[in-house]
Amino acid sequence: MMAQIEPTVIKLAETRIDEKGIQELASRYGASDWLNRVRPTQPNDAEFLIELSGRTCYKSFGLGLNPNVTRIRENSRDYLTNVLEKGDGSILEHATVTFAFLNVSRVFTHEIVRHRAGTAMSQESLRYVRPREIGLWVPPDLETASSKVSETVREIEKRYHDLEAQFDWDKMTFEQKKRVTSALRRILPDGIATNLIWTANHRTIRWVIEMRTHPSAEVEIRTVFDKVAEICIRDYPLLYGDFTSKKLDDGTTQYTPKFSKV
Ligand SMILES: Cc1cc2nc3c(=O)[nH]c(=O)nc-3n(C[C@H](O)[C@H](O)[C@H](O)COP(=O)(O)OP(=O)(O)OC[C@H]3O[C@@H](n4cnc5c(N)ncnc54)[C@H](O)[C@@H]3O)c2cc1C
Repeated sequence: MMAQIEPTVIKLAETRIDEKGIQELASRYGASDWLNRVRPTQPNDAEFLIELSGRTCYKSFGLGLNPNVTRIRENSRDYLTNVLEKGDGSILEHATVTFAFLNVSRVFTHEIVRHRAGTAMSQESLRYVRPREIGLWVPPDLETASSKVSETVREIEKRYHDLEAQFDWDKMTFEQKKRVTSALRRILPDGIATNLIWTANHRTIRWVIEMRTHPSAEVEIRTVFDKVAEICIRDYPLLYGDFTSKKLDDGTTQYTPKFSKV
């Protein structure tokens, strides 16, 4: 039977600092004073790694390390805000977040794969996985016709299982099953629920939030990236502090950065 499902976002992983490593780097760089002063006040590993990487460029851990530097931004917020303002986004690529996008459609996955720079993706395979049922999120624009949608999906599901029954699965090798499963998926709808693991660096995440929560983007990807934006603004306040939000008529939220495409 068709299962009505909701797209879900789970944060799975994020970049972690190796404390011994940063101590060694700081001692080689003459930046131990800076490390001991700043690290306790900035325990967020992603933001700390990005700041550390950026400061390495000019040895701007303190005055005296680089004779050309006569003034430094002391605190992390000022430093990272300046990075965003100048558009020095490449250092944001040092830290990543991994999300599970569950119960998203193949409409969604087809769109998210268009963002290639700074991403890694692993999607549930419809060559290997033979679905027992079609899970489908009913978008708000179809809510008034939701019983008709269910009926249509149930019909496709029935036809799928009729076709599936034409094959003697118990006598097939794994390779044969894979080939037929892959052939059969062609009659499944784009809206069928799937699962995707998505890793992206912070430069990319900022860009995709901006693009995909824009009112002109598709409603499902907006719904998913609203959740991504909420997590990132909560967990990385200095990297996403310039985003403002605006509620849209359909209940989704648009997130717009002050500094676009850093
Ligand atoms: C509202 C909306 C509607 C859309 N409609 C369509 C549509 O109808 N048809 C369609 O085909 N697509 C459509 N797209 C997808 C769109 O065309 C892009 O492919 C997608 O948004 C990926 O963004 P990006 O090009 O910024 O790439 P990303 O991979 O996100 O890259 C980020 C940035 O890195 C740089 N970059 C990445 N790769 C390269 C490269 N190879 N060379 C140089 N610079 C690079 C660019 O500055 C790029 O903007 C739509 C997207 C949106 C948001």
